Amino acid sequence: MTETFTPPTRFAVPGRIAVSEQAAAVWQTARLTEIRRETPHASTFRFAVPDWAGHLPGQHLMLRLTAADGYAAQRHYSIASPPEDAGHIELTLDHVEGGEVSGWFHTVARPGDEVEVRGPLSGFFAWPGDRPALLIGAGSGVVPLMSMVRHHRARGLDVPLRLLVSARGPEELIYAREFGAETTPVFTRSAPEGVVVGRMTAALVAPLLAEQPPGGWEAYVCGSNSFAEHASRLLVAAGQPVDRIRIERFG
Ligand SMILES: Cc1cc2nc3c(=O)[nH]c(=O)nc-3n(C[C@H](O)[C@H](O)[C@H](O)COP(=O)(O)OP(=O)(O)OC[C@H]3O[C@@H](n4cnc5c(N)ncnc54)[C@H](O)[C@@H]3O)c2cc1C
Repeated sequence: MTETFTPPTRFAVPGRIAVSEQAAAVWQTARLTEIRRETPHASTFRFAVPDWAGHLPGQHLMLRLTAADGYAAQRHYSIASPPEDAGHIELTLDHVEGGEVSGWFHTVARPGDEVEVRGPLSGFFAWPGDRPALLIGAGSGVVPLMSMVRHHRARGLDVPLRLLVSARGPEELIYAREFGAETTPVFTRSAPEGVVVGRMTAALVAPLLAEQPPGGWEAYVCGSNSFAEHASRLLVAAGQPVDRIRIERFG
């Protein structure tokens, strides 16, 4: 872990944009060092990437697998780890039924295996930690939001941050052990006794918006297309300005 975090130059010094974009265009070897099960369908894969230039919470990367015959498959994955975890990257993958890349990770990959990555990508969904953040995610859509939560903790930031996360049930809630007072889980199929089962509703979103920290919330929504639409409608109905809602769609 490093003491200080320097944002990638593309966000800090416009004159150096070309340097950072070049770095994101270069494929780098990522060596798998650890696999951690999060839920029955999702695991975290930790990689050593010694030359990684750094990222901001919320960004993603492009991952490439290449077969012995030269066939290659590329997919986007959000970065789960915070920027402070220098030289390492963690990804959390859902096991998609019949999925080429997620299937390989969940059934074949072992520590020591090497894949290729390039990034970081997408400055739009990044949260540098400089403004109040209202995070709303569903399923593996919580991955980039967790990087923000981890960054917030690693830096001891006092800027307000809230996470509303939807999962089918407690056993499907990715990172459940790590959540603290900033997080409100919503369960859509089954829930512990005394907890209501159902979709994310205005009744959950409105009180968070009513808090209105100085400067207002920047909202970050991540999940499937349908979830992203549902959550952004709830936000707008509760008074969040449309131009302060950032959306990442996995679908
Ligand atoms: C910006 C971005 C960030 C992403 N971050 C993550 C992440 O952090 N974790 C993660 O698990 N995924 C993430 N994804 C989704 C990821 O890129 C892949 O689409 C996913 O892993 C499936 O790839 P696959 O090769 O296993 O399946 P494929 O071989 O591509 O598809 C197999 C079948 O599954 C269907 N399918 C594909 N993707 C999904 C899906 N997400 N849900 C349900 N069915 C699907 C396809 O239509 C097809 O029928 C992200 C996508 C984007 C665009």
